[in-house]
Amino acid sequence: THFGFKEVPESLKESLVGSVFTSVSPKYDVLNDSMSLGIHRLWKDSFVSELVPKMPPSMHSPEGDKAWEPSFRCLDVAGGTGDIALRILDRAREKYGNRDVQVEIVDLNEGMLHEGVKRVAQTMYYNTPQIKFTHGNAQSLPTHIADNSIDLYTIAFGIRNCTSLPAVLSEAYRVLKPGGRLGVLEFGKVSNPLFREFYRQWSFSVIPLMGQVLAGDRDSYQYLVESIEKFPSQPEFAKLVQEAGFQTGEMREGGAWTDYTNGICTFWRGVKA
Ligand code: SAM
Repeated sequence: THFGFKEVPESLKESLVGSVFTSVSPKYDVLNDSMSLGIHRLWKDSFVSELVPKMPPSMHSPEGDKAWEPSFRCLDVAGGTGDIALRILDRAREKYGNRDVQVEIVDLNEGMLHEGVKRVAQTMYYNTPQIKFTHGNAQSLPTHIADNSIDLYTIAFGIRNCTSLPAVLSEAYRVLKPGGRLGVLEFGKVSNPLFREFYRQWSFSVIPLMGQVLAGDRDSYQYLVESIEKFPSQPEFAKLVQEAGFQTGEMREGGAWTDYTNGICTFWRGVKA
């Protein structure tokens, strides 16, 4: 039986999200590119370039060097196939010659993690302690991730699917070190009224159609579009970030959040006091 996602009880949502991402995981990266016309790459690049701080070049190699220790620990939650994690590692290495960063990807869906592992196998990070994949839930992170242990927590296009936004944010707050940073990348609300109407029409017609044609799965993409509509506005979500304890900067665009492409995508920031 098919039922519209709005009527789905919260308790069922998690298992349905699991099956949505299982059905799309092998084609996930291709679908992202087609549906956003490749623009999600630019959003992710901007997000990561702001969040990775300046760092000194590495003294030790992450490949079999016993003295290697991560000097900067990142947690990429709902990390899927590793889009953000790989960008973080590349940014530190390419810009600062630093390979002391470690990123742990946590995702609820094993199909996505599996695609991520296959992808990392094509990179220099494979078989190094720089990247780890963990099966787990954003709302109650795996117990080996200790309080006050993380320098940077990222969640990109993943928090929208979680049943409790406050639970995700309070877990992020708990595991971050004091001074550690939170970055949330998610679909926002388009600010220009004309563009908003165009975008609405486009997403409700073109996205499910592309899902049908490219993935043979209209329903999953219909759900994705509906979940974007239901997600809080930029100031509403920034308020939740503050309520979780984070310092966010001023409650405006350019402060607590930054809009990309007129708010199609938004980056919310926070610092653990
Ligand atoms: N961050 C990646 C990116 O930007 O390409 C993947 C985003 S993908 C749209 C959303 C991911 O969130 C999926 O891999 C899904 O399995 C994961 N997810 C959904 N709910 C989750 C939860 N409660 N805890 C952890 N991961 C979750």
